Amino acid sequence: MFNKTIETLELDKLRKLQSERLLSVVNTVYNKVPFYKNLFDKKGIKVSDIKSINDIHKLPFTKKEDLRDQYPFGFLTVPESKLARIHCSSGTTGKPTVVAYTEKDLQLFSEVVARSLTAAGAKPGMKIHNAYGYGLFTGGIGIHYGAEKLGMTVIPVSGGMTERQINLLRDFKSEVLCCTPSYALTIAHELKKRNIPLSEINLKYAVLGAEPWTEAIRTEVEKGLGVTATNIFGLSEIIGPGVSQEAYNEKGTGSYIWEDHFFPEVVDKNTGEPLPYGEEGVLVFTTLTKEAMPFIRYWTNDICSINYDKQGSRTHIKMSPIKGRADEMLIIRGVNLFHTQVEELINDFSELAPNYQLIITRKGSMDNVEVKVEVSENYYKEQRLNGDLLNTETIQNNENLTVLTKKLEKKIKNNIGITMRVKLQSCHQIPKSEGGKLSRIVDLRK
Ligand code: ADP
Repeated sequence: MFNKTIETLELDKLRKLQSERLLSVVNTVYNKVPFYKNLFDKKGIKVSDIKSINDIHKLPFTKKEDLRDQYPFGFLTVPESKLARIHCSSGTTGKPTVVAYTEKDLQLFSEVVARSLTAAGAKPGMKIHNAYGYGLFTGGIGIHYGAEKLGMTVIPVSGGMTERQINLLRDFKSEVLCCTPSYALTIAHELKKRNIPLSEINLKYAVLGAEPWTEAIRTEVEKGLGVTATNIFGLSEIIGPGVSQEAYNEKGTGSYIWEDHFFPEVVDKNTGEPLPYGEEGVLVFTTLTKEAMPFIRYWTNDICSINYDKQGSRTHIKMSPIKGRADEMLIIRGVNLFHTQVEELINDFSELAPNYQLIITRKGSMDNVEVKVEVSENYYKEQRLNGDLLNTETIQNNENLTVLTKKLEKKIKNNIGITMRVKLQSCHQIPKSEGGKLSRIVDLRK
């Protein structure tokens, strides 16, 4: 562990620390940020009402729109001259929002990334191939300084130019890869395409995040790159990557949230009421130690659940994988749907790749969903060996694939309760990101 004392702090001591820090942050925002003063006054909330972390639910939420309204510096608690760095969110859901850091905030950022990388399996002295985008986005630079703090050798490749990435992996023999899960798949496919055996690269761990992913993607990345792959989660408003991290020896049990700095809650998507541990809802964070731009109950819009793991090596709470964003939840003929539900079903077929897109259209009052999904590289190769070149036309006439299409359609209907039309695609037909995020949904109803 990077910071064993804190990572294994007993819960009662953690609560005490969180309470002290919450009181201080509430006091600061009330006195320094007019937005919060007005909001607290309007809602009749007094700073003195907040006596411990258990009172957190009395406080109002902060939403992305509030950040946009206060653009660029309305949330600052320090003069602009005290800022050490400014980042922006990647703007997946609209105009990017601005986040700012003091020198102390940057130290905190590096600390949580160093903790995360250690939990992912990284050690001082290892090389880290950082293929997250560098620039305004928090991913690249955030990981960079955290890795340096841990004592790693950083290769700041940034995203894109896959061929060069492979050459560098081969030449420098990095042990750790950081990128989005979809880009890790792209690298794995490229290795395969170029017939480069895993013995020529030296990767041991992949730290993947910035977009939702599933166990099937984990299996494919682990096999394709010869690594142990874990989840890193974060968002610019709270700090950037390193808000939470899955431990490499506790895979599949959730990601530790570094709750001495970021206090998590899961609340009902519609009412905002706090939900019990284990129930799924919107993830909300209060930054307990951030200096330049602290946020109270920031509504992430990400859907997951949180719970303590008594078997875990650390005491901090764990979050489940993100299912999607609350505003990404589709309503199809009255049924709630996240694209990851379809993905879980696709994953049961070895002939299919976890590369898919849901196309939603409406005819009259009827919603229609088409699932475009690619056949897997292995299946594609197998068929080619049989002399059966797979393209859009031959796929429709391939008997095996016709049966498989029907099977998947039935599975979707039985599990999700919605009839969807499955359309298989040949390999690499669905546009993939070069380091960016993948759009799984094309909603043509709007
Ligand atoms: P945005 O994409 O909202 O413009 P950011 O660049 O700060 O802003 O990205 C943060 C968002 O990315 C999170 O709120 C979440 O939706 C998504 N994200 C980050 N890490 C993960 C992860 N490990 N799993 C799922 N989603 C993630």
